[in-house]
Amino acid sequence: MVDPRHYGCREVRQFLYDYTERGLGARVLLAMDNHLMDCQTCRDLAASYERTTQAAKLHIREAQPRMPDSLRNQLARRLNNIGQSV
Ligand SMILES: [Zn+2]
Repeated sequence: MVDPRHYGCREVRQFLYDYTERGLGARVLLAMDNHLMDCQTCRDLAASYERTTQAAKLHIREAQPRMPDSLRNQLARRLNNIGQSV
């Protein structure tokens, strides 16, 4: 096991999920914080990770019924159109 003080991008990414959940020991959290302060790449990654997990949680909390296929296709088509017009 790598000493948390020597964490590189590889270790940080490995623990990113636990990091966003704050499900890590204080030593590891500190090491992650330190790394993220120095490393823009991992910071961006952590931010997008956080957004994703938050969105997923929100989705679960709302307990949306499954989107009907017809609606989903319609939505996909519309998103495609937006992508093409940009
Ligand atoms: Zn990094």
